[in-house]
Amino acid sequence: MAQARFTQEGETAHVLVRNLAIGGLDYREYFKDKYCGRPFDTLEIRFDGEIFNCCPSLVPDSIGNAYGLNTADELKASPKLANSLDAILSQDFRYCRWLHCDLIMSDHLLKRAAALKTIYAPEFVMLSYDPTCNLRCPSCRTEKIVAKGAQQDQILKLTGQFVIPLLKGASYCMMNGYGDVFSSRACRRILEASNPEEFPNLKYGFITNGILFTRAQWQQFPGIHRMTRYIRISIDAARRETYDRLRLGGDWDILMENLDFISQLRRSGMIDLFDIHMVVQEDNFEEMVEFGRLGQRLGCDKVMYDPLMNWNSYPLDELKRRSVHAPDHPRHPEFLAMAKEVTRIMPSIAPMAGSHDKSLSAQQPQTVAILNFGALYRVVDVTYS
Ligand code: SF4
Ligand code: SF4
Repeated sequence: MAQARFTQEGETAHVLVRNLAIGGLDYREYFKDKYCGRPFDTLEIRFDGEIFNCCPSLVPDSIGNAYGLNTADELKASPKLANSLDAILSQDFRYCRWLHCDLIMSDHLLKRAAALKTIYAPEFVMLSYDPTCNLRCPSCRTEKIVAKGAQQDQILKLTGQFVIPLLKGASYCMMNGYGDVFSSRACRRILEASNPEEFPNLKYGFITNGILFTRAQWQQFPGIHRMTRYIRISIDAARRETYDRLRLGGDWDILMENLDFISQLRRSGMIDLFDIHMVVQEDNFEEMVEFGRLGQRLGCDKVMYDPLMNWNSYPLDELKRRSVHAPDHPRHPEFLAMAKEVTRIMPSIAPMAGSHDKSLSAQQPQTVAILNFGALYRVVDVTYS
């Protein structure tokens, strides 16, 4: 049936959608002379040690496992890495999930140019291999996770042998994608080792729940004070009672105190960017506007809203009940109204303008919203300026 429909309507469907639905080679023409630099300069280590050279949700094939490698140079000899680079250089993008990639779907791939990169040299490093966290948010995990014993030893070995040497040649490091920077011994070891002399180009982006990000903690790591580009605090609520329900183990008063401290760091120019983040669900979507106002009061650069994802922490029916961003949720129209209201109180920009994008100026004159629902769930009438 899909085949018949595409045969009739094929001229109007996106060429990549049509190729995926009914086959064909038109995609070769679509990708001709196109290029993406991300697989040549990106390295992400997932919680299980698997390494990716793009976001794992966009290119799900790993290029190696960090626990099986002694040095970053061993990774450069990986046949899987060679294949993934070949997919870009031979212009078929065969490892990319075409319909999930904003660069592909919005036609923002680069034109091939003489100066394009052809060898792998990781500059943008995303670290998510230590799941240790001081909180246990129900949207993320079913119990508190703290690496111990043999697991801790393995994580620390990977940190000393593979990650720290790799960071000496990198220009950006984001941590922690699946835990908290300040509760992770591995992340703290990286922070202790960091200084502008040995890591001359490196800037950090921290994603943290903010509870341990105190003034005293910041003063413990003087090496990173001029190396911090970006701090994102995940909060998920604008009211104490909602926070207490969604961020188990957190403390609203400590969080507010720490947010004020980070706000001072941003206003003094010590850090370049300060964002707050909300995973939107039925329990908190009515606070989206208040959350935006909190970001404005703190002088944040961005207030980020993301949909609730399936991290296997909720049974499927519970996930569905909470997923107010899904078009078939009974309260979805209220969610859309709230999203529109957010764009009324502050300008919004496209989700693609992420932390890699240096054009997102550190001199941003006002707080902007990122409503990251566009690619998967169309938020009608919300336009990105
Ligand atoms: S999925 Fe998109 S960003 Fe990733 S390598 Fe492919 S084109 Fe580049
Ligand atoms: S603070 Fe972040 S990493 Fe920690 S449990 Fe909550 S969502 Fe997960």
